[in-house]
Amino acid sequence: LRQAQADLAYMSRVIAVGELAASLAHEIKQPIAAAVMNAKTCARWLQRDTPDIAEACEAASRIVKDTTRAAEIIDRVRSLYSRGTPERELVDLNEIVREMIVLLHDEANRYCIPISIRAELTPSLPRVMADRVQLQQVLMNLMLNGIEAMKDTGGELTVTSKIAENGQLLVSVSDSGVGLPVEESDRIFKAFFTTKPQGTGMGLSISRTIVESHSGRLWASANTGRGATFHFSLPTETKAVAMPPEGT
Ligand code: ADP
Repeated sequence: LRQAQADLAYMSRVIAVGELAASLAHEIKQPIAAAVMNAKTCARWLQRDTPDIAEACEAASRIVKDTTRAAEIIDRVRSLYSRGTPERELVDLNEIVREMIVLLHDEANRYCIPISIRAELTPSLPRVMADRVQLQQVLMNLMLNGIEAMKDTGGELTVTSKIAENGQLLVSVSDSGVGLPVEESDRIFKAFFTTKPQGTGMGLSISRTIVESHSGRLWASANTGRGATFHFSLPTETKAVAMPPEGT
């Protein structure tokens, strides 16, 4: 079962990363284009009759900044779809949320209508014993779904983190989009259920499998106004260590 979970998570990551490839290519092209410009500027300062070393140095340090940014983006993507068996480590959920917001920024701006992403993160959350890549996967699925739900109307995606009353960590992804499909809201977590022409119907089912393999829960609720909210809860470090999930 665990191998199947790992395979499914891997598959879904590859699909989702494939969908993101275009916007990521754009994100990587920007710093590279900036680096080329700065390299030309640098050469011009050096080729002057009296080379301006200070200006050339400044242009060179901008090149370092641009290329470092491009390398960071590549590293982040690589960590998303590098194959590996699930690995448990102490994970800071807020950090994962922040990373995903950076990663999905371009995706949210791909549509003609503005979609903003906002984070309401409770500082100094206890860390969770979890597979970082799998949790990135869950957040990416939920956030991409939220963005997609708002692609015709625009709106705001809000990601919240806090400690719930039962002491577990609670992450919520809320959108102001189309809302859950009427009378189908219990089916959305079933594999292959999709209302999208290009959908796979795998995202939510894989996400739930991942969260449950961490002894957590994943569920959805309709917003009072527009849109839907997806929540997942996870036991914190002490609990997870004291009560390892079944089968681990
Ligand atoms: P896919 O996105 O490929 O359809 P998912 O398993 O991620 O697969 O989602 C299944 C279905 O759940 C979607 O097709 C959609 O009908 C519904 N759904 C998921 N997220 C949202 C959301 N944020 N708002 C409204 N409906 C959603």
